[in-house]
Amino acid sequence: MASCGGDSEKESSTTTPAEVDLSEFTSKQMTGVEQIEIDVDLDAAIQRLSKAVTFKTISNQDRDDFDTEAFANYHKFLEESYPNVHRELKKEVLGDPRPYSLLYTWEGTDPSLEPALFYAHQDVVPVPEESRDQWNQDPFAGAIADGYIWGRGVLDDKNQIHGILEAAEMRIAEGWKPSRTIYFVFGQDEEVGGHEGARYIADVLEERGIERFAYVMDESAPLTPGIFPGIPDNTALIGIAQKGFISLEIAISGVGGHSSQPPTESNIGILAKAITKLEEAQFPYKIHPAVRHQYRYMGPEMHEAQQPMYAAVAFGKDDELTDLEQEFINEMAENQVTRAMLHTTIATTMFNAGIKDNVLPPTATAVVNFRPMPGDSPEVIIQHVKDAIDDDRITVRDISASTPATNIANPESDGYKMLEKTIRQIYGNDLIVAPFFVIGGSDSKHFQARDFAPDVFTITAIQLENVKEFEGFHGVNERILVEEYARTIGFFYQILGNLEDME
Ligand SMILES: [Zn+2]
Repeated sequence: MASCGGDSEKESSTTTPAEVDLSEFTSKQMTGVEQIEIDVDLDAAIQRLSKAVTFKTISNQDRDDFDTEAFANYHKFLEESYPNVHRELKKEVLGDPRPYSLLYTWEGTDPSLEPALFYAHQDVVPVPEESRDQWNQDPFAGAIADGYIWGRGVLDDKNQIHGILEAAEMRIAEGWKPSRTIYFVFGQDEEVGGHEGARYIADVLEERGIERFAYVMDESAPLTPGIFPGIPDNTALIGIAQKGFISLEIAISGVGGHSSQPPTESNIGILAKAITKLEEAQFPYKIHPAVRHQYRYMGPEMHEAQQPMYAAVAFGKDDELTDLEQEFINEMAENQVTRAMLHTTIATTMFNAGIKDNVLPPTATAVVNFRPMPGDSPEVIIQHVKDAIDDDRITVRDISASTPATNIANPESDGYKMLEKTIRQIYGNDLIVAPFFVIGGSDSKHFQARDFAPDVFTITAIQLENVKEFEGFHGVNERILVEEYARTIGFFYQILGNLEDME
């Protein structure tokens, strides 16, 4: 998975164990959790998930290309499929400007308790025409074959919507009621940033005066053996922080003119110099607190020779950098994926100027996309860009509906512990559970960036057989094992109950 962490395979040469006290660097894996099995009516549940795949709730980059009927029909299908949920919970259909996101409110019996929120998205990425023939099954047929359920959305992310709803349906049938209020939010445009759905609903809930969520959960990496380099074991990664998103237009407007009498500096030349200066002014590398958490949990489970380095990262201080931490940074910086965990990235994605070979263009524009680390606000980034370019003729403008980097969820919190316990109850103890820093983001970033939801945990509650199966995410042959879907439902059933034990 692209957003995972560092490559630990490499043997370190300069590390000597004596430099770090490893006595505190012991395993953080939870022990003593008993595995349980939840009885699920799997055949009926599989039929519902299969049918869900047939609704083409596609998010296209061209936002005018939006199939309102597919979403409306999907909503109707949900209503027919989950009568208990639709009787007991309040359903609102929200979104701006297009209302196709779903907000369900399951009123708790004790209004003094902080609420919980489960997030998933209805939309799916398109299936490119040229990849169709690589699919073993029609991506929108909802085929059940060879022990798998196939199709766009069964892994990302309709399995989570349906896992949540199946679990709630079961609980209601048993007469169960939550003591804290529980929200289900199913967004409509996660794959294109979530501005219509997730962001709008985060606004709505904020306006309703929710001060703090006790627990928020959203998708991220599925449980997969070897998903993190250096750990061949089955691993459940729990996202605890997500990067932000901002695009800046960097432009120059001046006089154009005829190419027969050019000025010493053209607008294109000035802008090109500015972009070069910006790319040379990379944001400094630093070890983010979320990365320290990650290695505190992961490090003791990894290669022994590397442990002094991981311990140095885990226990390091933000205002000083030890040799071992520098070594870690050097190693991470070698690979462009792990490098992105170390700083706010700068990516020049568009460059426009000129329409004719003998005309000096009066304007030139470039677009640069940044993925900010927590702490680098739009103001910080814009100032960084202005300082780097240091040219008054250049203007800088935020053209994105930017999202800030999120808060960092606390892996020592009750919420994290409750999640790890639930994972172990359903998936057993033969796996590693660890927090990690997500270099991309999903819709819950719209919640986690706000004060009311610092503790958002992201994981997709499905077991994959191997990393190859992970390619179905946005790729071809997206599929999940039928048997594993039972554990997805069991997971959500169990976590609803476990929420009761949280303070
Ligand atoms: Zn997704």
